[in-house]
Parts: sequence; structure tokens; C-alpha cells
Amino acid sequence: MQNINTLADFDFIGKKVLVRVDLNVPVLHGKIVDTARIERIIPTIEYLVEQKAKVILISHFGRPKGKHDPSLSLAPIVDALNDFLPKKNPVKFSVDCQGISASTAVDQLKDGQIILLENLRFYPGEKANDIDFTKELASLGDIYINDTFSCSHRSHASITGLPNMLPSGIGLLFQEELENIEASLTSPDKPFAAIVGGSKVSTKLTLLENLVEKTDLLVIGGGMANTFLKAQGVSVGKSLCENDLVDTAKVIMAKALKHKCKIILPRDAIVAEKLENPEHCEVVDIHEVPEDKMILDLGPLTVSSIIEELQNCKTIVWNGPLGAFEFRPFNVATESVARAVSGLTRKNVLISIAGGGDVVAALKHSGLRESFTYLSTAGGAFLEWLEGKVSPGIKSLQDNYTDKEKLKAS
Ligand code: ADP
Ligand code: MG
Repeated sequence: MQNINTLADFDFIGKKVLVRVDLNVPVLHGKIVDTARIERIIPTIEYLVEQKAKVILISHFGRPKGKHDPSLSLAPIVDALNDFLPKKNPVKFSVDCQGISASTAVDQLKDGQIILLENLRFYPGEKANDIDFTKELASLGDIYINDTFSCSHRSHASITGLPNMLPSGIGLLFQEELENIEASLTSPDKPFAAIVGGSKVSTKLTLLENLVEKTDLLVIGGGMANTFLKAQGVSVGKSLCENDLVDTAKVIMAKALKHKCKIILPRDAIVAEKLENPEHCEVVDIHEVPEDKMILDLGPLTVSSIIEELQNCKTIVWNGPLGAFEFRPFNVATESVARAVSGLTRKNVLISIAGGGDVVAALKHSGLRESFTYLSTAGGAFLEWLEGKVSPGIKSLQDNYTDKEKLKAS
């Protein structure tokens, strides 16, 4: 990893290490419904414990609007963390992430012990990247480790502020995410394909513009394909369509042509009057979308032509579902293509990387999560990376890079 310090660069023994993790886990009726985020930070915690550091976990949780909100306390997460850690060294909890109670709790830690501090967003200074708030946090530790690539697109105190105040680096999870994404995008094995879906072109403009320069094949599905279809003169009925972006879609298609990127758009579609009325859905040729209906998924012809094209590819990145997958049967295209990609990945024909909240949810739901080479839980940060931008969190770590020898000496 260039210009970013990693765990191996530090001597942790006896040091207080502030570890920014992402404990913003999905909770329903007070129960954690998915512990994936917790499981993935365990290796970094275990490494630091083994190195006899004092481990201080910091995270946000939900959107408490900058003040104490008991319903958004991190306290219940302690038990979930302990489920994945050895019983003999239970995680402690501090009811505040600032002030005397936090500093006292931290001072009482013995080498190798772990504490979780209360929700950073109980203070407005976290999101505002306030310097005094950051100083208070920094005063609790000797070293800062960021283990949340998924939050690195946020310019918050615990992400971009702390590296300016403490020797800083990334944890094992962050490193793994960066290496996987970097490897696939910096020098991908070719042919390199991208699948982009989701609802709107407007949220993914930079992404599309960047991808047509880099990829050999770009599959456009989901609601955003409608704007491209319109740009080709296809009538899309009542489908979601951003009329003000039709010209932009034309520009992107022209750019693709220039860069020899082949764009695949729907040839047929599943249409219905509304999402909630799937029994009345039908397959139509893309030139025969009824005036009163909406395109809600790709049709079977399009799906098989996508799968055929992907057989020849060596690298695939995927963001955004191909249809309104939350509503059956509009999940079919996304699932069929996902099954094909996972099959090719398992046969070692290609490397597959998927990222983005909804597409990852779709893959999980269809049980295909494990068979992708890599699934990035980092929604916004993954997108920024695909867009060719450096996240503010990564930039701050790079700006504060310290030579390994100097770090060990300090
Ligand atoms: P991701 O989170 O993977 O980046 P997005 O948030 O961009 O994906 O888009 C996901 C949303 O797009 C889903 O809610 C899905 O229902 C919607 N969507 C996909 N295809 C269509 C379509 N044809 N019409 C309307 N909405 C669609
Ligand atoms: Mg989404």
C-alpha cells in the first residue's frame, strides 16, 4: 500500500490505539439483524490485542442529530462484539466518547484490553469535523487506526480529522478492501466489464463517465437505462426517466464509442402498470413498451445476451441492481446475471467485484454473496473509487503518511 501506513508499521505495545470502526449495524426492533460488519473488524482487534495495545473502539451509529439519544446508544453492540471475541477479555464500554468519563475509562485499561466508546455522533463536532472535538478525541489515544473503508468518503472528525493529530494508519479490513479494489481497477485483466444499474443516472454520472474510459464493456440496466433508451429515440412509457439527462446520456454514449467501450442496453423488458401489481406484468420488445406501463426489469433476451458477453470477460465490477429487485418478479434479471457471474467466478474464469448497498443486498438475498471474488460493503466509498476519486479519509491518511522507521522510533 503506497503512502498509507498499515498495522505492520507500528509498535503497539502499551499504546492507546483509537480504532475507527463501522458499527453502524442494521437493527430491527432492538435486535441486530446482520453482524457482518462486526465480524469483519475482529481481525484488527485481535491483532492489536495480541500486540498488547489498549484498544479504544470508536464509531457512529445511526443519525442522532448531534445530541444524546438513548435509542442510538452503542451499548447494546458490546454483547455482539463479545460474541466474536475470547470470553476472558470482554469489551468494556464508556458512556461518553469525550470528557472525564471517557478519559478515566481509557486510563484504566490494561495492555490488551478493549473498550468501546459511546456514539461519536452524539456530538455535532463529529460530522462538522470540528477541531476542538477532534482534539478531545485525539487526547484519548497515542495512535489512530482507521478500519472503515466504508466511511472513508465522509469528512468527519473521526475520519479526516484524527490523522492530522496522531500517527495514523489503516486496519486489516480497510487494507483488504483497498487492495482488492485497487487490484481490479488499476490494472484489471481484460476484457474488463462493468455492470451498472440502479434507479437514476444523476447519482452515477461521474461513475459512468469514468467507466466508459476504462472498461471494454458497459452493461446499463435498472431505471437508469431508460434515460439512455430515450436518448436513442425509444419510447419508455411511464418508466422512470430523467428527461433532463437525455443529452448527457448521448454524450456518455459518444464517449464510449471513442474509447471503444461497448454499451449494452435493454433489448426487451418486463413491464407492468405498477410495482405492486406483478400479476399483470409482461415481456415486451424494447420498441413496444406500452404508453401506460413501466419498465421494471430487463427481459430474458437481454439477460441472455449479457450473460453471453460476460463469458469472455476477465474482470467484472458491478454497482446497482438491474431491476426493481425488491419486488418479485422484478428481481429475475439481477439474480440471473448474478448467478452467471458467480458461476464464472467459481470456475476461475473471472474476477468479480460488487459494491453498493442495494446490489449487495440483492446478492445476499439470493445466497450468492460468497461466490463473488469480493463484495464491498463500502457503498459511497466504493463508488468514489470506481469514479476515480480519492476519498477524503484516504487522502488525509496519505497526507499524514510517516516513514516506517520514524514511526517505530517514536
Ligand atoms: P446501489 O445501492 O446498488 O448503488 P441504487 O441505490 O443506485 O443501487 O439503486 C437501487 C434502486 O433502483 C432499487 O431501489 C431498485 O428498486 C431501483 N430500480 C432498479 N431498476 C429500476 C427500474 N427499472 N425502475 C425503477 N426503479 C428501479
Ligand atoms: Mg442504494
